[in-house]
Amino acid sequence: MKKWIMLLIVFMLAGCEPTEEPHPTGSAGNEGLGQGSGVHPAKQKKDENQTNQKPDAEVQTVLVEEDQVRRGNLVLVNKEFKLDAGAVPSDIVNLNDTPELLQGYVLLDNSIRLSRQVAEQFNGMMEAAAEDGVVHFMLSSGYRDMEEQEQLYREKGADYALPAGYSEHNLGLSMDIGSTQMPIDQSPEGKWLQEHAWKHGFILRYPKDKTEITGIQYEPWHFRYVGLPHSLIMEEKRFTLEEYLMFLKKEKAYSTTVEGQQYDIRYVPVANGGTVIELPQNSQYELSGSNMDGVIVTVKRSGGDR
Ligand SMILES: [Zn+2]
Repeated sequence: MKKWIMLLIVFMLAGCEPTEEPHPTGSAGNEGLGQGSGVHPAKQKKDENQTNQKPDAEVQTVLVEEDQVRRGNLVLVNKEFKLDAGAVPSDIVNLNDTPELLQGYVLLDNSIRLSRQVAEQFNGMMEAAAEDGVVHFMLSSGYRDMEEQEQLYREKGADYALPAGYSEHNLGLSMDIGSTQMPIDQSPEGKWLQEHAWKHGFILRYPKDKTEITGIQYEPWHFRYVGLPHSLIMEEKRFTLEEYLMFLKKEKAYSTTVEGQQYDIRYVPVANGGTVIELPQNSQYELSGSNMDGVIVTVKRSGGDR
């Protein structure tokens, strides 16, 4: 009898162990998912897709890091949203030292700097303007580092300048454009920009009828690079950057076509520790933070399959 009891106890103990074991690993797995730890949810998502989707609807998963929220061509910098120091592009160049980027316009002084990427787009825009016979452009301001902005703010005051970190000029994607002939708002240069800048990825950042939204008086000279297709949508809908980002955040997804190329745009909130997103396999995409709470994912849709 004693032996039987012993055996029974052994069986019970052995029987208990396997049923208890899954609990700790199961809950740990869930915690990992909740935190969005990167590797784990990405793997999980892929498994689901393999069972739920057609094999030709392959997806890739991308971990969007928290830092990405504060970087990119669409980051909002205004009185409310301060620029993150790490958001300044690493390709800032002095235009006076880069003659290949100084075509079709002049500089107010030889200290003006811009992101190289933006200067290249700006040059393309100057070429297009020249083809239309509009040739008297002058850049009067570009990138300003935090110290320069602080000095400007100290010297000129709050009516003229913004504190360091709250000016778009600290970002390297904005510039003040003038005409060498007359005030920009009366000049052919200003009129040409109002009509064509969006085609080259630029927007008039502080329009006359949007001062309540931007918090900045009308500045017919201040342009900001956001890139296509965003500048097209903002032009079509007459959105400021503030309005555009709120629109994307609310809509969550939006599609548009530029010169036959379709773009799918999404606003994705990014959690602490990062967020995993799914994109079509092998698709070309761009990420930009909003400087608020998420990123804008812009996917170039690949050629039709019908
Ligand atoms: Zn400006």
